[in-house]
Amino acid sequence: MPEERPMPNAALRVLLDAIEEVMGENGTKAVLNAGGLSKYINNYPPKDLEMKATFAEYGAVQQAVEEFYGPRGARAMLLRIGRATFQFGLRDQPAILGLVGVALKALPEKTRMKLILERMANAAVERVNQPTTLIEEEDAFYFVVDQCPCAWRPAHDKPCCYTTMGVLMEAMAWTTGKFYKVEEVACIANGATNCVYRIPKQPTEE
Ligand SMILES: [Zn+2]
Repeated sequence: MPEERPMPNAALRVLLDAIEEVMGENGTKAVLNAGGLSKYINNYPPKDLEMKATFAEYGAVQQAVEEFYGPRGARAMLLRIGRATFQFGLRDQPAILGLVGVALKALPEKTRMKLILERMANAAVERVNQPTTLIEEEDAFYFVVDQCPCAWRPAHDKPCCYTTMGVLMEAMAWTTGKFYKVEEVACIANGATNCVYRIPKQPTEE
């Protein structure tokens, strides 16, 4: 297990708010108990940038949701939780997303996507203690995360960071009004050195 790594209270808080929206109050309590985080029951971390939460806690919450639903059901629920995490973050804690005062101007769609992904990567570095870089290729953006809460979770036989996938999907939906199928193509919990998310430049036809 890596040594403890702090993150801002607000990052864990928006995740818990999202879990409560998707799973309800009792589901959230069950998750906090199962994750060894009963100290947060009826006592969520404050909405501030103090570095009092940890990557291990964030990982334990996700792991508990996964175990609550089982490996098959967990994917869809964690994606929903990720999408809600983006919405709570945007509304309550835009600093951790790098989206304070962002107005989506009438720029070309791919330029807007790049702008928002760059801001999110910079905020991850500056606010969340999470080294992240954005790489652009011809057909896709790659959001490369060097330090992820999944490092504090058990090893997985495939990538497991569905919450972040949901966050990025919702970010792109908010940016463009379209659905982009984000995939995690490498994952620390699956033995890779980074968690790598691929955001295609082509939206999914609906
Ligand atoms: Zn991962």
